[in-house]
Amino acid sequence: FRSSLAADVLVPNVANAKRLFCSPSTDEKPQPSMLRHLTSKIKSTGPVTVAEYMREVLTNPVTGYYVKNNMLGPEGDFITSPEISQIFGELVGVWILSEWMGAGQPKQLQLVELGPGKGSLASDVLRVFGQLRSVLGGASVSLHLVEVSPALSRLQAQNLTGDSSQEADAEDEPVYRSGETAAGLPVSWYRRLDDVPTGFSIFVAHEFFDALPIHKFQRTEKGWREVMVDIDPDKEDQLRFVVAPSPTLSSSTLVQADESRSHVEVCAEGGVIVQQLARRIAEDGGAALIADYGHDGTKTDTFRGFKGHQLHDVLSSPGSADLTADVDFSFLRRMAESDVACLGPVTQRTFLKNMGIDSRMQVLLRNCSDPSTRKQLISSYDMLTNPSKMGERFHFFSLLHHSRLAKPKKVEGLTLEKRSPAPLPVAGFTKLKFS
Ligand code: SAH
Repeated sequence: FRSSLAADVLVPNVANAKRLFCSPSTDEKPQPSMLRHLTSKIKSTGPVTVAEYMREVLTNPVTGYYVKNNMLGPEGDFITSPEISQIFGELVGVWILSEWMGAGQPKQLQLVELGPGKGSLASDVLRVFGQLRSVLGGASVSLHLVEVSPALSRLQAQNLTGDSSQEADAEDEPVYRSGETAAGLPVSWYRRLDDVPTGFSIFVAHEFFDALPIHKFQRTEKGWREVMVDIDPDKEDQLRFVVAPSPTLSSSTLVQADESRSHVEVCAEGGVIVQQLARRIAEDGGAALIADYGHDGTKTDTFRGFKGHQLHDVLSSPGSADLTADVDFSFLRRMAESDVACLGPVTQRTFLKNMGIDSRMQVLLRNCSDPSTRKQLISSYDMLTNPSKMGERFHFFSLLHHSRLAKPKKVEGLTLEKRSPAPLPVAGFTKLKFS
């Protein structure tokens, strides 16, 4: 939750994070600062697009924000739903199982998470899988994590596989780390989605798409122009936004012809990734669950920075703060809908309520007599579902194989009436009945 943090929220797994991120760097050379890197780039080749700026600041292999920071948790820059309560990941685990059942319980289940942070969501999902082993039967489950940050991958490995994981010998191996959970499930780490093997997969992306670079465009009297980042002519060490004087390739291709807003943000990289997800689901079966803050093609300027749970100027001390932009779900739908069926976005409150968060809370509260843990449970429930907190800021969006929502076919020409079974409702997006 990239906003002020309520002090009394339940935050599991923070101790490990601090220990790992505080370990001294083995590289003794002073690191070039991100600002110096950007200003020398701009001096030599001119202003950079906001997308280039965001990509450098967040994922530059040496000084990138995600590569070198411990950003999650009370002492980081923001906190996310899986870090607030284990219930969140448990309900996502139930969703995954329900989609695996809806697909006819295939023998292989690849669980693929994009941008796993500390690994808490995956860990809560796998705990549900362990508890519902009888439902999974003999299916073979594997976990595949797409993570650009080596530091975060070490933290995820510690949380998911203890000390069992190993780094690949060569730097260019597609699987750069691998290990095994305590229950014996294989876990592999990749830098890019492209490197994840094909096969029936359920993809999960929580607060991943908002971290991908966006292009920004401004409507002007002369037409759409791309917003760029330049050096402030009055102050050498300060950056400022400028509008490109003529069209760029992006401004000519990424803005919709019938666009009515005067300023738009387009996450081209998010579009490419969602197309890859859609193609994989169409070809190999599976589903994707994308959860993030966002809008349906209505907002304009949402690019912002977060540092220490406070808003931070996106152009000042680049690399020291998280940069983020709301996800445009209408754009993701446009990119995916020729290959898959899209559901949502629905609000986090609706999704969690439909998934049975209230029943789960009742069970946890019934089994918990410690007053301070009860208070934490109630406050984390409130944080996740309250419309004025995360309940209506965050949305769930899903990509499904077309067959998943197809109407049952009537078999013609037979005297006996035979119908294929009606598809199961998609959990979270429709209300589940507990009977
Ligand atoms: N899903 C987690 C973490 C969100 S932060 C949670 O909700 O708690 C964003 C995550 O995406 C981090 O793990 C970050 O390192 C990763 N990430 C950011 N850009 C990425 C990219 N281009 N490719 C792969 N991972 C990326």
